[in-house]
Amino acid sequence: MVKFFEKDPYAPIQYVYDVDKVLYKAKSQYQEILVIENEYFGKILILDGVVQLTERDEFFYHEMLVHVVMHAHPEPKRVVVIGGGDGGAVREVLKHETVEKLYFVEIDNEVINTSKKFFPTVSSQIDSPKVEIKNMDGAEFIKNRKEEFDIVIVDSTDIIGFAKSLFTVEFFRSVKEALKEDGMFVTLSESLHFHKEMVVNVQETMKLVFPIVDLYTAPIATYAGNWWTFSAGSNKLPLRQMRRPCISPTRYYSEEIHSHAFLPEGLYERLMKKLDW
Ligand code: SAM
Repeated sequence: MVKFFEKDPYAPIQYVYDVDKVLYKAKSQYQEILVIENEYFGKILILDGVVQLTERDEFFYHEMLVHVVMHAHPEPKRVVVIGGGDGGAVREVLKHETVEKLYFVEIDNEVINTSKKFFPTVSSQIDSPKVEIKNMDGAEFIKNRKEEFDIVIVDSTDIIGFAKSLFTVEFFRSVKEALKEDGMFVTLSESLHFHKEMVVNVQETMKLVFPIVDLYTAPIATYAGNWWTFSAGSNKLPLRQMRRPCISPTRYYSEEIHSHAFLPEGLYERLMKKLDW
């Protein structure tokens, strides 16, 4: 049986997947794109040797990335998704009928094309008339915008290479400026097992900019370290409270998950003081 050895840039262990079939392999202007089939996970999208999503568990990640801030906001109408070329975050955002306009800012159009071809259930909403695709760096897109958006979501590759521009204090400042008064921001921030320093670093950097910063987690089997974090920032409204009833359908996210996903205060304090678990 052919094996795929993941090349995660920061994990202290290596994940190995059985490959039933290689469905697609190409090199775009930005990265190597690979789609394989695995008996348990179904189709898997891999960029530069790192697993981005699997058909079996993508909903855990996409629902948790999107629905926490979307439900904490009283009425999200104008939303930006940066990265997320597979379309999973776009699909979840558009489950909210309040949304009128969604800017989908993915630097690599080849990822979008690959997802449309191999992951139709993930990319299903990309062609919605509410979606405007911008093939550019998300940091460039968000620069010099003033109070235009209700929600900004970063669904990038790991904090390496061209994704690094989405984790700087300058980027967070631009996001804050681009958000309306009630605006909210969320980004992936790696794992509490393998990348604790990165999580703390993202939190500390966001705190230089946003009056409210919080941290929540979700179990993602296929991301290195599994105990995956999301860092959220808000201009005014606390993020732990839902301000609208839970939309349907969701498979993992719910009212209960919203309140339980945030790190308990004691654990958060230990993390930020850089104490050992
Ligand atoms: N959920 C996935 C994960 O965490 O592994 C991320 C999936 S999505 C495919 C990641 C996308 O972010 C890639 O398609 C990549 O091209 C895009 N991306 C990375 N840096 C970017 C940037 N600076 N601006 C816009 N898109 C970016």
